[in-house]
Amino acid sequence: MKKIVCSLLLSFWAVVSMAQLQNNQSKFEPVFDFRATPTRSASGMPGEAYWQNRADYVLNVELDTEKHQIKGAFKITYTNNSPDNLPFLWLQLDQNKFKADSRGTLVQSIEGSRNRSDATEGYIIENLKAAGKPVKFVVDDSRMQIRLDAPLKSKGGKIDIEGSYSFTIPEYGADRTGRIKMEKGWIYNIAQWFPRMCVYDDIKGWNVEPYLGSGEFYLEYGNIEYKVTAPASVVVLGSGALQNPAECWTAEQLKRWEQARNSDKTVDIIAENEVGTPASRPAGKSKITWHYKIENTRDAAFGASEAFIVDAARINLPSGKKILAISGYTKESVDRNAKGGGWERSTEYTKAAIEHYSKMWYEFPYPTAVNIAGNIGGMEYPGLSFCSYRSKGAGLWGVTDHEFGHNWFPMIVGNNERLYPWMDEGFNTFINIYSTREFNNGEFNERDFDNLRQFAMIFTNPRREAISTYPDVVQDRNLGITAYYKPGIGLYLLREYILGPERFDFAFRSYIKTWAFKHPQPFDFFNFMNNAAGEELAWFWKAWFYGNGTIDFEITHVAPFRDDFKNGAVVVIKNNGDVMPLVLEVTEEDGKKTRMNLPVEIWQKTNIKSIRTPTTKKVIKAEIDPDKKLPDIAGDNDVWTPEIGAKRKSDEENKQKQVNEEKRRQEEREKMIDELLNKAQQPAEEETGKKKKRKK
Ligand SMILES: [Zn+2]
Repeated sequence: MKKIVCSLLLSFWAVVSMAQLQNNQSKFEPVFDFRATPTRSASGMPGEAYWQNRADYVLNVELDTEKHQIKGAFKITYTNNSPDNLPFLWLQLDQNKFKADSRGTLVQSIEGSRNRSDATEGYIIENLKAAGKPVKFVVDDSRMQIRLDAPLKSKGGKIDIEGSYSFTIPEYGADRTGRIKMEKGWIYNIAQWFPRMCVYDDIKGWNVEPYLGSGEFYLEYGNIEYKVTAPASVVVLGSGALQNPAECWTAEQLKRWEQARNSDKTVDIIAENEVGTPASRPAGKSKITWHYKIENTRDAAFGASEAFIVDAARINLPSGKKILAISGYTKESVDRNAKGGGWERSTEYTKAAIEHYSKMWYEFPYPTAVNIAGNIGGMEYPGLSFCSYRSKGAGLWGVTDHEFGHNWFPMIVGNNERLYPWMDEGFNTFINIYSTREFNNGEFNERDFDNLRQFAMIFTNPRREAISTYPDVVQDRNLGITAYYKPGIGLYLLREYILGPERFDFAFRSYIKTWAFKHPQPFDFFNFMNNAAGEELAWFWKAWFYGNGTIDFEITHVAPFRDDFKNGAVVVIKNNGDVMPLVLEVTEEDGKKTRMNLPVEIWQKTNIKSIRTPTTKKVIKAEIDPDKKLPDIAGDNDVWTPEIGAKRKSDEENKQKQVNEEKRRQEEREKMIDELLNKAQQPAEEETGKKKKRKK
């Protein structure tokens, strides 16, 4: 026993390790000081007393294509499941963001931001009633408070809020709503188009963060039933199921819809050459009311145009259920000659995306998936996406796949997008990797996510910000990294490198199922994954999601263990950044390769770790992360060979020589200065000496 201790103490490697006296507990401690509550369990599941309020909407509006206005009536049935009586309610008036003096207008960058907008008058709201009686309300920017005569009772109290309203549709509405004139007519992309309840939750009560532009939405679930009356020439395609198809389509078109329901190939409902022809719309009507309904949803949107080409195909869901993929676009978006084609493939993409995500993660819950072209780059709503009419080929696949991927985050799993966009944009970016790999045998799989070193610039940019930065706070240029790429790559690392697909998929699917149609917080996600995967991942959440560090490992030395490679080799690895588990590969002189999986715990005590390899011959190469899966910012020091080792040694010696030389020169300089000072002092001392003498 004693002998072992002595030899360990004397070992060079032990000395190297002991040179580092600090431990790394802070890197392994949880991000949040989380305590379970009755509403949120420590395991990341909703607690036994979890509650959520509910908002059901009935909307009846007219789309005025002369004035570009929406005008009509709304009725909200709000259910208060919270344990609190509510004396007032808060609603979101998103259209007020477009007013010239709104907070959103004033905070957006004056140029360059995709979330800018044209100025409108915002919402005009009249005849507001609560429980059937006129009620006092206050509008402040993009929020409205309704002051109730009597508090809305806790645990199931219901109230109807109703009123009439109108607004002018901005041409460009923060890249989430808008309208654009095409050759054969306007396309309308209508969203944030009715007063919506703010979420009242167990975290902060009313979530009243204003709509500034960058931060998206946080919404309650419920059913939305809506009627849109438009000129008969206009086709309205919306979230959910059309309740009155016989009034909206011709007999021929109804036949085609039936065909589409039974076809995996895209079927034309209104073909390009039929757009604008009298036969393409039901005869004898000046206006048509389109009646839609979508259930268990946090929102609804619709597209409308008299210039729409419409096509559709069947979507096959894992349960055996069949639903419809539908596209509405204009002739400007058809491009059969482009590489990958134009919007004539939109329905094919929509179908593929919904089928992939349903199979992989959770079954799509809505009756239709509608892709609408317009002047919005890409924006998601439940069962409906707006994508740029200019997109084609890989770009159109990418944006369609991404926007429909949002049906899983945040439409099914309803996180607070305004504060935590990484829980929807980031998770969606992650699931997009696999659908793009799968689609048509990788037709558009242009980016190799297995080579994460291509993203090193994300981690070395001196102006980078952490994932946890709020979207209305983060620099415009960094939002793509903080909300999309870094969290997306984070989950990719977690699945492919840290946990493996078996453990990750179980945990992530369980997270989606557990929080479907609910409101998880970031700590719920972290706690859930730790529990379901069976791994305390605090070190990862902390560094990757709440930190701004980098990954940089290096091999500093390789030597025989106890002076003989027969005993194995010692590989010394230094960690210059965040902690990670590592794969170490050593090659012996006969070419034999051995891989070791080094757990993240090797970094708990130290930043310099000596590993003894199970080898018996001379090691001629050692490499960490041989598959280059880690976004290590300095890949050149991950490999060791005797030549590299010798060069590093001589580099180090040269560096040491330089240091010594500089030290010697400095000492010389100091010596000279001392001498000069001494000389300068001597006469002074002599002088003082004389004076002293004289005085004496
Ligand atoms: Zn997105």
